Order: sequence, then C-alpha cells, then structure tokens
Amino acid sequence: MTIMKLQSYAAGQWIAPAGRISQLKSAVTGEVVAELGAGDVSMAAMTNYAREVGGPALRAMTFHERAAMLKRLAQYLGGRKEELYELSYDTGTTKLDAMIDIDGGIGTLFVYSSKGRRELPDDVLLVDGGIEQFGRTGSFLGTHVCTSLQGVAVHINAFNFPVWGMLEKLSPTLLAGVPAIVKPASATAWLAEAAFRMMVESGILPDGAVQFIAGSTGDLLDRLTCQDVVSFTGSAATAQMLRSNPLIAQNSVRFIAEQDSLNATILGPDAGPDTPEFDTFVREVIREMTAKAGQKCTAMRRIIVPQAMMEPAIGAITARLEKTLVGNPRAEGVRMGALASLAQRQDVLEKAAVIGSEARRVFGDPDSFSPHEADAGQGAFLPPMLFACDDPDGASAIHCTEAFGPVSTVMPYRDLDHALSIANRGEGSLVASVFTHDPAVARHAVLSSGAYHGRLYFADRDTGKEATGHGAPMPHLVHGGPGRAGGGEEMGGIRGVMHYMQRTAVQGSPDLLAGITRTFIKGATPRTSGVHPFRMTFGELDIGQQIRTASRTVTLEDIEHFAEFTGDTFYAHMDEEAAAANPFFPGRVAHGYLILSFAAGLFVDPAPGPVLANYGLDNLRFMKPVSPGDSLSVTLTAKAKTRRNDEYGEVRWDVEVTNQDGDTVATYELLTMNAM
Ligand code: NDP
Repeated sequence: MTIMKLQSYAAGQWIAPAGRISQLKSAVTGEVVAELGAGDVSMAAMTNYAREVGGPALRAMTFHERAAMLKRLAQYLGGRKEELYELSYDTGTTKLDAMIDIDGGIGTLFVYSSKGRRELPDDVLLVDGGIEQFGRTGSFLGTHVCTSLQGVAVHINAFNFPVWGMLEKLSPTLLAGVPAIVKPASATAWLAEAAFRMMVESGILPDGAVQFIAGSTGDLLDRLTCQDVVSFTGSAATAQMLRSNPLIAQNSVRFIAEQDSLNATILGPDAGPDTPEFDTFVREVIREMTAKAGQKCTAMRRIIVPQAMMEPAIGAITARLEKTLVGNPRAEGVRMGALASLAQRQDVLEKAAVIGSEARRVFGDPDSFSPHEADAGQGAFLPPMLFACDDPDGASAIHCTEAFGPVSTVMPYRDLDHALSIANRGEGSLVASVFTHDPAVARHAVLSSGAYHGRLYFADRDTGKEATGHGAPMPHLVHGGPGRAGGGEEMGGIRGVMHYMQRTAVQGSPDLLAGITRTFIKGATPRTSGVHPFRMTFGELDIGQQIRTASRTVTLEDIEHFAEFTGDTFYAHMDEEAAAANPFFPGRVAHGYLILSFAAGLFVDPAPGPVLANYGLDNLRFMKPVSPGDSLSVTLTAKAKTRRNDEYGEVRWDVEVTNQDGDTVATYELLTMNAM
C-alpha cells in the first residue's frame, strides 16, 4: 500500500509534511496508511491570506452566487464519492457508515445551497426583521442588518466524521461569505485531506476561501480577533483548553463547541412489546449502537425504559445484537466495523470499565470476541456492549461517562417524570428521543426536558420510513446542546449562517434605510416616471418605482354582486342588522377579497408585457372596513427585487389601498415574476 503524505493547503500552496511526522494506521489492519506532519506552515500567512484574499472574494459574491457555488461543489464531490468510500474503509467504517459521512456531507451542501437561494436575498446584506418606527411621523426608523464577518472561521473537527464534519461547518460558513481554515482530527485525516483536495481541484471556490492544516494548529488561536470564529467538535477537555485561551476571551472570539454528550432515549409508558413503537425503538437502539461503531456524538448512551420493560427490552436488543456481524468492513455481511484507532479502542474499554462499576454487562465481552475476517490484535475492533443499571438514581458514572463506541446502558424508570429526570441527568445533551404514540407524553417531555437537550426526537408508528433517526442531525435543524454538549449550535438552516455574520442595528431616515437595504421603505421618496411599472422589465424597474391609481367607489350592488357571484354571503356583507351588531363593523361592509379584486382592477396594466405571473401575497392586513359609498385607490410601489435566473426575477410590490379620507384600508405585498 502506498503511504499517503498528508499536506496542508496554505495561502494557495500545498505544503508537504515535515518535522515531527506521525504515522496514521488503518483501523482495520494496523498498517500505516498515511503520514502527517505540519510542515512549514505559517499560521500568520494563513490567517492573512484568508482575511485579505478569501474574505474579500467571498464577500463580493451575493448569497445566491455563494449558494450556487455550494451546489456545484456538492455535484463535483458527488461525482467523486467512490474514491472517498474507498479511503473510508481504513477508518474502520462499513460502506453504510461511509455513506452517512460522505453522502451526508454532500447532502448538507445541497441543503444549504437550496436554503441560500430560497431564504436569502440575491444580495450581500441580509435584512433581519421588520422596520421599527420610533416617532409619530416615521421620519426616523430602525431595523437590523447582517453582514459577513471580515475574519476567518477556524474549524476544528472530530475524527468520527471526517467529511460530514468538514462540510457541515463549511456550508453555512461559505454561504455567510467567510473563509475557513480546516483542521481535521489526526486519526482520520487522510479521508478529510482527500475530500478537501477534491474541493481545491474542482476550482469552484475562490482563492483563499478554504485552507487546510494537516498537523498542529500552532499559534493559530493566538491570532484570532473579534472578526473570527472557532467552531470546535471533539472532547470537552480539549474544548475547555482551547476556550480558555486568554485571547479568545479578550477578543470576544466567537467559540462554538460541540462536545461530549450522554444522549438518552426513552421508551414511552405506552410503548409495550406489542406496539409498533417498541419495534422501532429496538431497531433504533441497534442502529445507534452499531453505526460508526457507536462513534457518533448523537448516539444513544442511556436507554431508559419502564421498570416492567427492562427484561423484554434487554431481551429484544440482545437478540438483535447477536445477529450483528462485526469485523472487517470490506467483508460481505459485516454490519459493524472497527473503531477509528487502537487508542480510541483503549479509551472506550477504560470508559466501559467505569460504567461497569455501576452496571452489569448483559451483552458483549471484549475478551472473548473475534472480529469477522480481521485480526483482533491489529484492528481496533470491539463488540457492541450493552450494560444494565438497576438503580439509575443511585448511579453517577453512567450519567457522565461517554464511552465513545458501541456502548449503551439500559436503566428502568417508575413513571414519565422519573424517566425525564434521568434523561436530564446528562446535564445537557445533543439529543434525546422518546418512542411514544401519545401526544400528551410528547408535550410533557418537551416541557420537562427541552431545556436540557438541543434536539428532541419523537418516533411513533406514523413517522414511518421518512423518519431520519435519533442519531441523524439534519442541516435544517439545530445541532448542538446545552451544558456538557458544549453550549453551541451548528447548522439549523439559516440560523447557522448567522454564526458567521454580525447583526447590526441601523437607524436613520426612510431614504437612508431604503438605500442601505435596497428595499423600499414607507416614507422613502418614491420614483415616478410616467411609465406604468408593469411595462418595465426586471432590469428596467428601479426599487421605489411607484404609481398611484385613480379611485373607484364601492356600491352596495358591488357587494351583493360579489357575494352572489362567489357564494360568500357572510352576514357582515349581506345582513345590515347582524353586521351592525358586530363590534368591528358600522353595518354591511365590502368583502376583503372584493377590496383586493378592485385593487388589482385599479393597478393592473392589462396588455401583455414583462409581468409574467402573480404568484402570491404576503403580509396581508385589512385595516379598516369599507362601507358602500367609500372610494378606493391604490399606491403600488416596487419594494424589492430578487433575480431568479437569466429569464426572470421576483418583484415584491408594496400595495396600499386607501379610502377617500386617505385612511389605509388594506396593505400587502404582491409577488410577481418579471421577465428580464
Ligand atoms: P479531541 O478533543 O482530542 O480532538 C478534537 C479535535 O481537536 C481534533 O481535530 C484534534 O486534533 C483537535 N485538537 C486537539 N488538541 C488541540 C489543540 N491543542 N489545539 C488545536 N486543536 C486541537 O477529541 P478526539 O477526536 O480525540 O476524541 C476524544 C473524545 O472526544 C472521544 O472519545 C469522545 O468522547 C469525544 N468526541 C465527541 C464528539 C462529539 O461530537 N460529541 C466527537 C468526537 C469526539 P488532533 O486529532 O490532531 O489531536
């Protein structure tokens, strides 16, 4: 086997390993797979390059351009994933495990790409929330905007997901317009390096957007400023050590940590052995114990079951574990591979011994176990080990010892409150799951346990095949947890992008805020040109382009005609006495939809032109009733534009319908697709 020499990628150059070289061994055969050594890497040069080259290049791109870049990257990596699967075996993983890591990482890029295009503007600045008006006239306003941090994101990743761990952090970071320096965990660095190298070879990312450290981070953390972010995954001890770097505190460097977690699962009081929930629970426990050989930050460490279910649950789980073939992940039929390294295996054995001091082992003897088609002496193999603790209240180690491998402990509960209090003894976890078909149990669990867990996963017979599993963090949802889990949050859709941006309150006049946000704001000076804005193409239309229509009087005949025509004969429109008795109406009033229809009749320019389609209304409010005899007119203003593709873009129009006294009777935002 050729030994890979892992290189750093700094300031646009690959740098060969040098200095103190460490050898990385196959988790399966013990053979040397790769060599690692920091080489001549200057942290100063890396941070400067990120700040001076990568950052400006990314910030010059809009969210949509960055999102498109993530999609191209995902497609590129998807085309080369077989090469990564091949390299993954020596980290101890089965093909299925490798797919969680590699396809999971690529999938995260796709999700962020799609969210970036759908939920963020085609701009470099994000408006966060609405306009705040401080005075009566609206001449001085405030809002919030988010802009990209002008520093670098330092991503320190764990060994267990070398590809997903890298891509789940890079996706929101790059979408935010921030360059990253990636430091993979040494144990599986060859796989991370290969995936990183592919990203560079793709030529898709701008120079300086990503850099890579094969080896130690040296004085990197001492160089960070208020514009930088550290996002760490690994052990609590390392997180604490890095976080206590005085410069991190002094410069208020954002520090996101995702660390140890004593995740729990609860078999609901209603989920007896004859229920579908029980079967799903057993299946999930097996998956959590054996996928990635239990080396998942989200794996179930504590299995909490009703007292009466202890023996049935243990029986069902052990029956399935017996059928799980453990061994060489390349061999046919193997369901669980090796741990990432012999050191990791040793660590798990030590932690299992601590758990064993409070719990009896009911499955998996590491001393009398031989892996399938593998040499137990060379590879980092362990059997799944299931413990049972009959007194979870009296125990302490089982609630705070994370054996980062195929190790879980079953324990009994008296009632639901007891179960939840046991789950909370993890003192902050990434995820807890509850297998129940009872919504009251689910709500009770959220109220009693939500504060202790970053994610609560509920499984019942209805979640079916679409259920993503206890252990799978979804890019759309928050991944992270309080307390022992690190107190950080990753992903969570666009929430994750915000970790790499600064939210700034901005205050000023309507015209200034409109200029800053490139959005029309009520009170800002409109533009008028004598041409109806529906005659302007997407490119010709300026934000603030406005027309004010003629007026139209609403008659009682109109209201009755509309009622009969549509079938909406609600009493407020048709029964004078009943309408007058209603505290909101002076008597019979026009339908809200009649107001909208008349408004469209007033502002629409009918001839074929650049407006292709009306595809919705946002934020519709009826502010004042319209009585027979009232006259309506409309002010239509181009509020915001979002390019969709080369042929058309979305225009958001501010629509205000007023009556003869100038009072607003309805406001909304109309969305149209306009040709380029
Ligand atoms: P570590 O905390 O030792 O390492 C995590 C990352 O931090 C690695 O990239 C590591 O690099 C890096 N690192 C370590 N020391 C420094 C330093 N001084 N400066 C900068 N970076 C540093 O965790 P391990 O990966 O060894 O795993 C140990 C335990 O952590 C596991 O057994 C498990 O309990 C827990 N863990 C939890 C995870 C979770 O998501 N909850 C995930 C993975 C692990 P290097 O590898 O080169 O030392």
